Amino acid sequence: MYAVLDIGGTTIKYGLAAADGSLHHIRRVPTLGKDRQTPVMETVLGLCKALLNEHPVQGIAISSAGQIDSRNGRVVFATESLPDYTGTPVKSELEDQFKVPVSLENDVNCTLLGEKWKGVAQAHANVLCLSFGTGIGGAVMIDHALYHGNSYSAGEFGHMHFAAGGIACPCGDSGCFEMYASSRALEQQLQKKTSSSKTLPVYFQNAQSGSQEELAAIEEWASYVSLGIKSLAHAFNPSMIVIGGGIAEQGTFISDKIQYYVDSRIMASYKPLHVRTATHQNDANLLGALYHHLKQHHSY
Ligand SMILES: [Zn+2]
Repeated sequence: MYAVLDIGGTTIKYGLAAADGSLHHIRRVPTLGKDRQTPVMETVLGLCKALLNEHPVQGIAISSAGQIDSRNGRVVFATESLPDYTGTPVKSELEDQFKVPVSLENDVNCTLLGEKWKGVAQAHANVLCLSFGTGIGGAVMIDHALYHGNSYSAGEFGHMHFAAGGIACPCGDSGCFEMYASSRALEQQLQKKTSSSKTLPVYFQNAQSGSQEELAAIEEWASYVSLGIKSLAHAFNPSMIVIGGGIAEQGTFISDKIQYYVDSRIMASYKPLHVRTATHQNDANLLGALYHHLKQHHSY
């Protein structure tokens, strides 16, 4: 049995997994505790301690937000949503404490690994994953292996250039892809166009029921997304794009729209390029973390 954790900016999902990928007792806690003050690693240590006390755990597999040196299990960089997390040698800290093998990999990389292992990307060697949320995270798989880049920071698709003189981005530049095509950007457009303040799932429900204002905003967003994918397709020539993040819950309703615009924009020699939503949605990160762990520690 393995302990599996997914460390996100707001919640940590954790539980147990068997080597075949079946997940058990999956729960969530706030990353910084109920008081929003607890250091990330204190929460993580507490959860691991509880799991290892109650179960015969032979390893700890972690998916984490931030730029992650997955070889050494260290956080290269994390934003302010995870205070004091940058530089943390997670793997060695937990191995010293618990005396079992520990692995750490970036969460979008884990989404892609999870879908490669048990999901929609199984039959594909060259795959990109775009994870939509506040921003747009990305992962790159080339010839069945993740591509990490020179400083474990490859795949920041959200900061591709999208609009000259465009909207200011938290990265310090302006006109970045994620300012137009993230889930948050879509939500903001929907709120503006419908003069209301509902959540994304409600807007999607309205669109599916035929509400034209919502449909128009979602179509425009899908078109923006396809412009980013067009650049990525011509740079990487993948056979599949996996759509991750909360928006993956919308399934073919959203992937078919993106597929339509992608097909109308990429050159014929790059087809077929399949656009699909992550099949494991909430569990893909945990599955991917486990797959990464098994590969790193058991030459899986
Ligand atoms: Zn940016």
